[in-house]
Amino acid sequence: MRNIVGYAIIFRIPVPLSGRTDRLLGIEKVICAVLCWLLAAAALSSGLKTLAAEKDIVDPYTTYSYEILIEDLRQLEERYPELISAFSIGRSVEGRELCAFTLGRGSKTIIMCSSTHAREHITTNFVMYMAEQYAKGFYLGARYNGKPYRDILDSVKFLIVPMLNPDGVNLAQFGPGAVSDPALIEGMRFTEHLWAGYDAWKANINGVDLNRNYPYNWKAVTPDNNITKPSSAGYSGPYAGSEPETRAMLSLLENIPFWALCSFHISGEVIYWADNGTPGLTEKHRPIAERISDAIGYRIKDPENVRTFGGYMCNYARNTYGRFCMTVELCPSTVEYPYPAKNFSSIENIYTVGLALASEVMGFKDGVKSPGISVDGKNIVFPDQQPYSVNGSVLVPLRAAAEACGLSVTWNAASGTASVSDEYTEVVLTPGSDVMRTSSQDIYLPFPVELRGGRVSVPVRALFEYFGFQVGWDSRTGSVYISSNR
Ligand SMILES: [Zn+2]
Repeated sequence: MRNIVGYAIIFRIPVPLSGRTDRLLGIEKVICAVLCWLLAAAALSSGLKTLAAEKDIVDPYTTYSYEILIEDLRQLEERYPELISAFSIGRSVEGRELCAFTLGRGSKTIIMCSSTHAREHITTNFVMYMAEQYAKGFYLGARYNGKPYRDILDSVKFLIVPMLNPDGVNLAQFGPGAVSDPALIEGMRFTEHLWAGYDAWKANINGVDLNRNYPYNWKAVTPDNNITKPSSAGYSGPYAGSEPETRAMLSLLENIPFWALCSFHISGEVIYWADNGTPGLTEKHRPIAERISDAIGYRIKDPENVRTFGGYMCNYARNTYGRFCMTVELCPSTVEYPYPAKNFSSIENIYTVGLALASEVMGFKDGVKSPGISVDGKNIVFPDQQPYSVNGSVLVPLRAAAEACGLSVTWNAASGTASVSDEYTEVVLTPGSDVMRTSSQDIYLPFPVELRGGRVSVPVRALFEYFGFQVGWDSRTGSVYISSNR
C-alpha cells in the first residue's frame, strides 16, 4: 500500500528491481530488444488468457467482513499492480485502519464511499465487485457505451473508501461479543428496527450516525428523529466532525482535488444529487443526474431539504467544493437488515454506475461539463474558452456566439469595452460590470460580464433576448438553444 497525504501504510507489495542492460553493445542490444519484445508479446497474450480464466477475487455473495476486505484488497493490488493501490486514510474508534484504494490512472479523481452506515455493508460488496470488474475489463478490452474501460481508467481515477465504518460493520455482523470495548455500546438505545437487534446497527461504535456528523448544517438534534444520545441510529454526535471516521473523510476531501463524489447507501433504488442549500448548483447538476439516472434506471429525488436534515456527507462536499456529489441508494426499499448478500444479483448490474459517472467527469472542464450552445439547431464551436455556468447563468464567449448569430462585435481597447450590434441597434458591455448599456437605457445582467481565458464572456440569455432571439435551456442535454425566429 502506498502512503499518501501523510496516511499510514498498511502493507506493501515488493517490486522486483529491473535488470541492468547498459553493458550490452550494438547487435547484442538489438537482439535483446527483439527477444524482449517477443517475450513481452507472448507474456501479454498468455497473461490475458490467464486473466480471463482466473477466478474472481471478490465474492459479492458473502457477508463481507473487514478481514475479507483487507485480504481481497491485498490480492487485487497483487493482480492489478498498475491499476490498484491501497492505503489507509486514518483509524476508526476501535483502531482499525480505514482502508482506501485507487483504481485507474487518470488525472480526474472520483471519490466513492461505502458502509458509512453499519447495517448497509452490502455496499462494500458492491464497490469491491465493481472495482474488480473494472480492473478486469481494462485488460480484457471491455467497453461501456462504446468507450473502452482502458480509456475511461486512463482519464479518471476512482478513490474508493470501501468501508468507512468498520467497527459498526463488525458489530452488525458479529454482535456485541466481537466489540473490543463492550462498555462503549452498553446501554445505548436501539432507535430503529428494534426487532433486528445489532443486525440493524447503523451508527459507528460511539453510537454516532456518521451521515449526520458532517459540518454542513449540522444539528445537535435532527428534527426527523429527535435523538439526543448515542444510539444505534440517528444521533448526530456531540459536535460536527466529532468522529475519527468523519474526520478521515473530511481530510481526504480537503487533500485530494476531486471532481465528483459518490456515496453508497441501500434504501430505495434512488439518487440524491442536490440540496436546497446550494440552488446555484442544482441547475448545473440536474442534467448530469438525469443522464446517470437514465444509465442505471434509478429515479432522481427532489433536492434535499437541509432545514430538516443536516450533517450529510454529500451535502457537505457539494456545498464546500461545488462538485457533483450524489448518494446512490442501491437496493429496493427494504425492511430486512442487513440486506442479504445472497440477493446481490438484484444490484449486480448497477456496477456500471461508476462508468456512467466517469463518462460525465471526463467531459468536465471546471467541475462540470461545459454547456453546449446552438443557433437554429447548429452547434457553435468555441475554439478556446468554452461557455460555463455561474449561479444558474450561462456565460458565453461573446465574439464566437454573437458572430454565429449574425451580429457584429467590436473591441474598443481605449475604453476596455465591447460593442455588439445589428443593423438597428448597439449595446456596450464592460468586463466586471453587470450593466449592458444601450442607446436608450441600462439593462442589468444577472451576472457581471467576465474576462476569462482571454475572452469576454456574457450572460447568454440577456444579450440575445435583447436582440430579439428566443433563448431556451434544454436540461436533458445541458445546453442552450438560440432561435433566430424573431
Ligand atoms: Zn445509509
